[in-house]
Amino acid sequence: MKYRIITIDGPAGAGKTTIANLLARQLGCVYVDTGALYRGVAYEIKHRAIDWENDECLEAFLADLDLNFLMEEGNLVLISSGKDITSCIRTPEITMQASAASARPQVRLALLDIQRNIAQKQEAVFEGRDMGTVVFPEAAFKFFLFADLSVRAKRRYEEMSEEQKDMQRVKQEMEKRDADDSQRKEAPLMAASDAIKIDSSSLTIQEVVDKILKNIQKA
Ligand code: C5P
Repeated sequence: MKYRIITIDGPAGAGKTTIANLLARQLGCVYVDTGALYRGVAYEIKHRAIDWENDECLEAFLADLDLNFLMEEGNLVLISSGKDITSCIRTPEITMQASAASARPQVRLALLDIQRNIAQKQEAVFEGRDMGTVVFPEAAFKFFLFADLSVRAKRRYEEMSEEQKDMQRVKQEMEKRDADDSQRKEAPLMAASDAIKIDSSSLTIQEVVDKILKNIQKA
């Protein structure tokens, strides 16, 4: 691996995206929210009404998929076939569709190249579910972030727009997504054996970032 790669895995709402973003700013590199790629797939499946459970339809769709990231003022912009879809991928429906589609091996394979190509060009902090286990087993530093379900659900609830706010739904969907992501056959959500585990339940974002930085600096 030419450039230093840092991975952060963990369940929904553990703070991965915010922490990866802050960490990357402090290290002077880019961060990659790989969940956004799965959400991009889900968005296109819905938008183009793809019969994604049918192998042939799914494969034809993936062959035509054109997803990539742009970095704008330190924030990631997700581009699909030239169109900015960043603001369309955070709805509850897309979230659940992303989780369902992410269990298909063809989807994971299609996104593997996109992720590894980014790492070929620069130092980066990658966050997701299988960064340390499957996508970058050789990463220089691996972290696994977790937190109690009630804490994670509260964090997600607070990020939501007024019309989306529904605590019970957030909690239920998060629990289902955690179970599906952890129990799937392909690249399940789990900590790499050499990952440093951090429980963020009672830590602030900056405290987690500091813990990660300390581990990187002491190596
Ligand atoms: O991280 P985020 O919640 O945006 O991810 C959406 C979904 O994408 C997750 O629930 C998971 O099923 C899938 N995902 C994945 N592998 C990754 C990142 C996300 O399977 N590396």
